[in-house]
Amino acid sequence: MTSSSAAPLGAPSPANAFAQRTTREWQMADQGHHLHPFTDHRTLHGEGSRIIVRGEGPYIWDSEGHRILDGMAGLWCVNIGYGRRELADVAYRQMMELPYYNSFFKCTTPTPILLAERLAKLAGGGLNRVFYGSSGSEANDTAVRLVRYYWAQMGRPEKQVIISRKYAYHGSTITGSSLGGSAAMHKQGGTIPGIAHVTAPYWYGLGGDMSPDEFGRAAAKAIEDKILELGPENVAAFHGEPIQGAGGVIIPPASYWPEVQRICRQYDVLLVADEVITAYGRLGRWFGSQYFGVEPDLILTAKALTSGYIPLSAVLVGDRVAEALVNQDGEFYHGYTYSGHPVACAVALANLDILENERLVEGADTGVGAYFRRRIAELADHPLVGEVRSAGVVAAIELSPDKARRAFFPEKDEGKVGLVCRDHCFRNDLVMRAVRDTMILSPPLVWHNDQVDELLTKARIALDLTAKDIGL
Ligand code: PMP
Repeated sequence: MTSSSAAPLGAPSPANAFAQRTTREWQMADQGHHLHPFTDHRTLHGEGSRIIVRGEGPYIWDSEGHRILDGMAGLWCVNIGYGRRELADVAYRQMMELPYYNSFFKCTTPTPILLAERLAKLAGGGLNRVFYGSSGSEANDTAVRLVRYYWAQMGRPEKQVIISRKYAYHGSTITGSSLGGSAAMHKQGGTIPGIAHVTAPYWYGLGGDMSPDEFGRAAAKAIEDKILELGPENVAAFHGEPIQGAGGVIIPPASYWPEVQRICRQYDVLLVADEVITAYGRLGRWFGSQYFGVEPDLILTAKALTSGYIPLSAVLVGDRVAEALVNQDGEFYHGYTYSGHPVACAVALANLDILENERLVEGADTGVGAYFRRRIAELADHPLVGEVRSAGVVAAIELSPDKARRAFFPEKDEGKVGLVCRDHCFRNDLVMRAVRDTMILSPPLVWHNDQVDELLTKARIALDLTAKDIGL
């Protein structure tokens, strides 16, 4: 054995780890020891996990050698695609030089400073400061603590309530799940106090006979009504995703966000944009707030900040809120061991270089993104499809038993048809996710038109097979 191949026993290099066991062996060990996120383990163990072993560009490979088109960019995060050596190289160099030091106790390291400076430039709009964590959930926790701290510093500690929305997803910590709109999550473990929920700008599902614009204004008015019900003196912030991703890629009508912004300003309520999905190119802009023309007080980002290569989140803090931290006495008792992790920040800088140099953000708007939106819209003619909506490089396909009426499948069967369609996609080597009976897509930004065509061909096959299965 040469020294380079002599990995110590029990510590195989990740590159060849999968080669050492069969798929079945991996599945058995997984089943015996590994608890998965958001998973019904009994069902999983009946089927066995799919073991993903490698990635390149927009494709991943499983342990059986299937090449799969990743229509979800991992979990909405691998914007620059898989297998980018540049990120591995900077991580290696940073680890050799300084793998870790913290930003507590009047210290820090260079890369979080460089990254904060760069993010402030990209965001504009007075979002000049950055608070780091390691996940979208942590970013949401930071936002709630920061917003409440801000109002306390301003001598208005009663301004505590955060208004969020149904269908929202803001993470899985107790704060994130409380902010989120999932009653099922609320039931498991309860919620924190001081969060109120209002309707989502989900025209397809809730708009009835209203035009999208009328409905957008009505959904914004629900926020105003809630502020008045609670008393503006008690409301700290409105907290929302520009596009509600995990809730089913709910793209608000054009009338919605300008009205939300107006309402927040009128009642002196801070505006928090959870851009864990929409930041760093997903909508063909650096930030989803730019896409909708809103100017939040805080922007929460994670995922594509490093294209998922390493965990990192960044809360971009506007001057108004930041002043309460930097120009007043007192310590904000909040932060994480890995706030401003030097390796994660170095990887983020290399990731931003790629997004910039390869013009991937512009591409998501006018290049392959425009082609994707044009082609995905063609699926609207399918008998099973009630609506196709898209923005940048994210899309939703609503499955419906009666498209003319925008009908949903009966409540007792909710999600079943979506899962049938998702499984057909998986079997055909396409990752397309189902939220209830809505199929969603959020592919890497590095793909080409022929890969869009491949996605469309596979998606149509999955829709045909699903329609056949349910006798439509
Ligand atoms: N906010 C939004 C909008 C998200 O989509 C997600 C994750 N899908 C989160 C927060 C939570 O991020 P994480 O899983 O990194 O904690």
